[in-house]
Amino acid sequence: MLIDLHTHTNASDGTDTPSGLIDKAIAAGIGVLALTDHDTTRGWQEASSALLNHPSKSQLQLVLGSEISCQDEEGLSIHMLGLLFDSSHQALIDELDKTREHRLFRMEKIITRLNEAGIEISLDEVYAMRTGDATLGRPHLADALVAKGHVASRQEAFETFLHNKSKYYVNHYSPTPEAAIKLIKQAGGVAVIAHPFASKRGKTLKIEAFDNLIAAGLDGIEVDHPDHSDSEKAELVSLAIARNLVITGSSDYHGDGKLNRLAQFTTNPEQWAHLESKANERRVVKR
Ligand code: AMP
Ligand code: ZN
Ligand code: FE
Ligand code: FE
Repeated sequence: MLIDLHTHTNASDGTDTPSGLIDKAIAAGIGVLALTDHDTTRGWQEASSALLNHPSKSQLQLVLGSEISCQDEEGLSIHMLGLLFDSSHQALIDELDKTREHRLFRMEKIITRLNEAGIEISLDEVYAMRTGDATLGRPHLADALVAKGHVASRQEAFETFLHNKSKYYVNHYSPTPEAAIKLIKQAGGVAVIAHPFASKRGKTLKIEAFDNLIAAGLDGIEVDHPDHSDSEKAELVSLAIARNLVITGSSDYHGDGKLNRLAQFTTNPEQWAHLESKANERRVVKR
């Protein structure tokens, strides 16, 4: 069974609609799919009804979640996958709302820096690239830079202007990873740290940092991910086994926004069963 526990739609910076993602997952024969848009649960309803009303009577199991942006005390960006949580948990909703609001202020600052360097782009042009009130991210700015002819692709936009070490980079408010884990757990869900050793994204988490994450209730580590090298995966497998954490694998699919293919990496069914059993209720959506 193919189990892919990390995907994005146009509820954040992916390019498929939530129902389009469900169609593709069913067509690809995926058994378990997690929807994990950045800092939002916006796509949950559309994805759920697309599955429940799908003409194929598919056996696909849908795991609703979110990839929560976090930042540690040193300003290191960390992504925490929250899965199977209760989306009516007010403290968690408030935190996601706050992060999304600060993403708007942050976008204004990045645009100011670009404008000061003579790169013409406006906030309205960036807003025009997102769907509804989707979580605003650098990929929308990348799309606006492409539309203006400044660069040819999202990839080139990140390499030229938008990467984390760029002089135009600005961060935004995010909870600490420990705070995010605690909120996810309070809301009955499970917490899996996303791509923790992806060194090609920049600085990565130190192994000592896992002590505090585990104390906060971390359930699992995303090991098989397109941005991890073989040696990074091997190190994480040892860590997960030593600390009794669930091992996951996933695509981090973004539609056409990235090269990652759906189910490019997957999770072992026994690992998934263990992870799912840690949620406080059975929340998987299926027909
Ligand atoms: P943000 O959440 O606004 O900080 O933007 C980070 C997002 O940008 C990540 O979740 C990726 O989806 C996307 N991203 C990062 N690097 C690239 C890249 N080289 N090409 C396309 N998308 C990227
Ligand atoms: Zn993304
Ligand atoms: Fe991520
Ligand atoms: Fe992601």
